[in-house]
Amino acid sequence: MTETLFPEPESHVVSVLLPLPLPSPYDYLVPEGLEVGVGAYVEVPLGPRVVTGVVWGPGVGDVDAQKLKPVEGLKPAPPMPKDLMDFVDWVADYTYTQPGSVLALTMRSRAALEPPQMTLYYRATGEVPERMTAARARVLEVAADGMARSPRMLCEEAGVSSGVVKGLIEAGALQGEERPLDAPYPPPQMGQGPKLSKAQQAAADVLCERVRDKAFSVTLLDGVTGSGKTEVYLEAVEAALQEGRQALVLLPEIALTLQLFERFERRFGSRPAVWHSGLSQKERRRVFAAVHRGEARVVIGARSALFLPMPELGLLVIDEEHDASFKQEDGVVYHARDMGAVRGSLGSFPVVLASATPSLETLMNVEAGKYDRLVLKARHGAARLPEIDCVDMRQEKLPADRFISNRLAAALEETLAQGEQAMLFLNRRGYAPLTLCRTCGHRMMSPDSSSWLVEHRFLNRLVCHHSGFSMEKPKFCPNCGAEDSLHACGPGVERLSEEVATLLPEARTAIMSSDLIHNPEDVEALIAAMEAGEIDLLIGTQMMAKGHHFPQLTLVGVVDADLGLKGGDLRAAERTYQMLHQVAGRAGREEKPGRVLIQTYMPEHDVMQALTSGGRDAFLSQEASAREMLNMPPFGRLVGLVLSGPELGVVEKLGRDLVARAPRADAVRLMGPAPAPIALLRGRHRVRLLLKAPTRFPIQSYLHQWLDAVKLPPQVRLRVDVDPYRFL
Ligand code: ADP
Repeated sequence: MTETLFPEPESHVVSVLLPLPLPSPYDYLVPEGLEVGVGAYVEVPLGPRVVTGVVWGPGVGDVDAQKLKPVEGLKPAPPMPKDLMDFVDWVADYTYTQPGSVLALTMRSRAALEPPQMTLYYRATGEVPERMTAARARVLEVAADGMARSPRMLCEEAGVSSGVVKGLIEAGALQGEERPLDAPYPPPQMGQGPKLSKAQQAAADVLCERVRDKAFSVTLLDGVTGSGKTEVYLEAVEAALQEGRQALVLLPEIALTLQLFERFERRFGSRPAVWHSGLSQKERRRVFAAVHRGEARVVIGARSALFLPMPELGLLVIDEEHDASFKQEDGVVYHARDMGAVRGSLGSFPVVLASATPSLETLMNVEAGKYDRLVLKARHGAARLPEIDCVDMRQEKLPADRFISNRLAAALEETLAQGEQAMLFLNRRGYAPLTLCRTCGHRMMSPDSSSWLVEHRFLNRLVCHHSGFSMEKPKFCPNCGAEDSLHACGPGVERLSEEVATLLPEARTAIMSSDLIHNPEDVEALIAAMEAGEIDLLIGTQMMAKGHHFPQLTLVGVVDADLGLKGGDLRAAERTYQMLHQVAGRAGREEKPGRVLIQTYMPEHDVMQALTSGGRDAFLSQEASAREMLNMPPFGRLVGLVLSGPELGVVEKLGRDLVARAPRADAVRLMGPAPAPIALLRGRHRVRLLLKAPTRFPIQSYLHQWLDAVKLPPQVRLRVDVDPYRFL
């Protein structure tokens, strides 16, 4: 619907933000007769193109009105909610990103801004066609129930070709009526939730009251795994629906999104809208349009759902709030938990953070009185928390090609003999993390990144997990030429499954790892097989660690608990604790008691001690004091900067230049330039700087003052990461 309108001299001027990496909105003339308010989606010319943008406010007036181009058309969609516009500005400022790039996150389906597309559905008219065939009779039999169906549905249900249906339409036996192409979202049914325990009810009451208050608050729902946090926040979702508001639930993994989706459907009798990066264009259009028009009331989604235009948003839940995958690392670098709290504050609605292992950031906000906390101490019903024990691998003295201790092997055998299920956790994809020549010691490295090649035996390739480079495993060592001397070192999940096959040849096993599972349907199938008891032993990476609820699962084995502690990441201990606690929490979720065996070379490490003794809070307060002493987050702020380019010398020099031109501020410490831990990535050399400042320091204005005027050569990129979580 593009109206061609001509600018009149008395036209007024608006500023329009475009979903492109541009630093500010541009002014455009509004032709007379065109009504455009703030938030309207409009089409405007940009060079030779026509781009859809959003009216951000009155014209700024920095360009002579004579030179301005006119708005060309108005999209027939509701305006962007004002709080979402404020959110775009806020996120852009906080993350030091162009506002247009943030706007692009809110416009993930342009088709959804068009009028809904219609399609024809057919019903039987009762008229009998002159010529009747068996195929025609089958179609009319299907249509006899009076329901309207698309031609495709009629063909499928009657088992006929499209020509048969077409013939019946022409003969007047079927009559069409217009329906929206995208299926609508039926309203959820209320009052179907389970009877809550006293503790659950008390927590739910508080959350529901916050929803009814329609004011901003952040509440941490801190409950052990299996305590019913999901049931409790679904009560709050129901309260939001009853208040006529929309609700948004964010989860860290698509697999979890699907599980909640089913749970939601069982409870509310209808399907919520689901949003994640794997959706097709068509699904995206359907969700986006329904959400934007207020027709879909609940969205369950991954972090990017935070940018959906939900005009009546009244509750945001962030489940597994501690999870690192809420941090978006590419493009606009943001943390969905932190930005979620901002969205709640701008939209005046409550935010609920749920976790059994809250992040230090969140706990510090609780301590400072900024966030509230509700606690669920026990698992629901008869379920108890599992017994957690360490296996000291120093004592085990396993041969180099074995990774499962005798104790864990015996426990696996016992569990399976009792008809129960087990899980082996190893956060390493592929067969072996390192391939080494036994003759000369050569290590197989990625040619374009500083990283080892990981053997994937199912694919029969060596793969770089950083750049995606892959090659066939060579027969001869590329360094010394020795034949068949390349040897797999260390375990990945594929190798573990090989070991299990030798230890427990009868066991039915499956591997859950992101390179063997490519789409949500695969995940669903695997979860269903696990629930149906068709799998005895699930071997998996972190993909399997979170959220899943398998009633028959009573044993969890952690193969290498020390893995996450290597590498010197600021949050290594905290993250390892969270991850292992989560995976341990999969055991014994119903009547049968669960147990967890953690294989480690450091049973005395604080993380292992905290896991086995259940001393979460003591461990975290120790972590907190260590960080406080070093002024590290959450007691100080960091900004990571990575310069990358094809020539090392150029990137290093630019790094030094950047440091030299950094504004002086006593509170700020600048570290680097230094080669990044992944010093080469996809052929680009990487140099990093790290900026450290006190929490209250106005870091954004400092960044603007420092970096706005920096001009980089075309092949060099600067990535700015405010509050970094990865230091690679
Ligand atoms: P969490 O989110 O804390 O891990 P869930 O909400 O998934 O816990 O609850 C764990 C299991 O216990 C789920 O199967 C859930 O349906 C069940 N459950 C929790 N609370 C209740 C309740 N009040 N009545 C019936 N079942 C419940």
